[in-house]
Amino acid sequence: MSTNRNPLEQSPYILVIGLGGTIAGLAANPGLSPSNYKAGELEVETLLKKVEEAIPGDLKLVSQQLANIDSRDLSEELLTLLGNTVKESLNNPDVQGIVITHGTDTVEETGFFLSAICGKLAEKLGKRVVLTGAMLPANAPQADGPLNLLDALKWVSSPPENCPGGVFAVFAGRVCLARDLSKRHTSAFNAPLMDAPCSPLGLINPSWLSRLKAVEAASGEDMPIPKQQWPWVEILTSHAGARAQALESLLDLGVEGLILAGTGFGGVHKAWLASLQQAEVKGVAVVRASRTGAGVVQGDAMDDGLHCVSSGTLSSPRARIALQLALNAAKADKSLTWQDFFARITVLPEFR
Ligand code: ASP
Repeated sequence: MSTNRNPLEQSPYILVIGLGGTIAGLAANPGLSPSNYKAGELEVETLLKKVEEAIPGDLKLVSQQLANIDSRDLSEELLTLLGNTVKESLNNPDVQGIVITHGTDTVEETGFFLSAICGKLAEKLGKRVVLTGAMLPANAPQADGPLNLLDALKWVSSPPENCPGGVFAVFAGRVCLARDLSKRHTSAFNAPLMDAPCSPLGLINPSWLSRLKAVEAASGEDMPIPKQQWPWVEILTSHAGARAQALESLLDLGVEGLILAGTGFGGVHKAWLASLQQAEVKGVAVVRASRTGAGVVQGDAMDDGLHCVSSGTLSSPRARIALQLALNAAKADKSLTWQDFFARITVLPEFR
C-alpha cells in the first residue's frame, strides 16, 4: 500500500477519512485501564501506518482528516461537511471507494445520514462507503481498531460481484448496512451492529445479501443535505412520572420536530397528550419511536389522534436524523410534505 496526501499521484485510490473516535484514542495507562482514554488523539494517517504491512500492496490510499473528535460531540455542521465530502468523492472517477473512521457513540446517526443522502448515488456508481471504528483505544493491548480498519479496507476494495455499491459498516468481523447501525452495548466489540442484520465478512451470508438488495430496491432517491442550519429536532423519552413541562418548554422555545421515544410499541404517557395537541397547532412535526431499543413501531390509530407518524424500524437517534432531513427537504420542495419525505427514507421492507 501507499498513502499519500496528493491524490494526483494515487489515481485510482481509496479515500480514508478520519473523524476521530476511540479508534484514534489513547489511554494514559493502556495495560491497567484501557477504558480510561481520550478519543480522537491520533491522525488517520498514523492509524494507516500502524497496519501498513498488512494492507495489500496494490491498494492506493489517500487519507483526509476531516475532524478528530469524540463522536459524542458530533455536530450537524460536521455531518454537512462529511456528507458533501463523501458525495463529491463518490462523483470523482479517481476514487474507488471511501472508508471513514468514526467514534462508535454516534456512528448510528452518521451511518443513517450517509445512507439517506448518498446511498443511491453509491449504488448507482457501484462504489462502497464503509464506516468503522473501535471499542478500545489504539494503544490498548487488545485494540480492535487495527483489524476493523483492515476489514473495512478489504470490504471497500472487494470485487463488485461480491456485493453492490452502498453505505456499509464493518465491526468485529461483520458487515451491515450503515442504515441499520445502533450502538446496543457500552463495551462489547460488536456494540454498533449487535442488533443489525449483518453477515460475517469471511463468508457473506446469502440471506443478508438478498435483504440488502431488497432494501436498495425499495429505498427512494437520495435526500438533500441541509444547506444552512438543520431543523431543530429533539428526542423526548416517555417514562413513569412523565411531566408535560419538558414538552411545553420545547414548544415554547420553537422546536420544529419531536421524536417521542415511547414505551413498548411507542406508547406515550397521558401527561403529554394535551401538549401534543398544542404541538399540532404549532405545526411541530412529531414522530413516535420506542425507547426499547429494538423492534418496530407500526403506524396505528394513536398516530392519527396525536397527529404523528411512527418510526418503523428506526431507533430514536436515526428517526431524528430522518425527520431533520425530511423537514429540510419539505422546506425546499413545497409539493411534498415532511411526512412524504420521511416515508421515502424510512418505509422499507422488514427482512431479518
Ligand atoms: N466516545 C467514543 C466516540 O464515540 C466511543 C468510541 O469511539 O467507541 O468517539
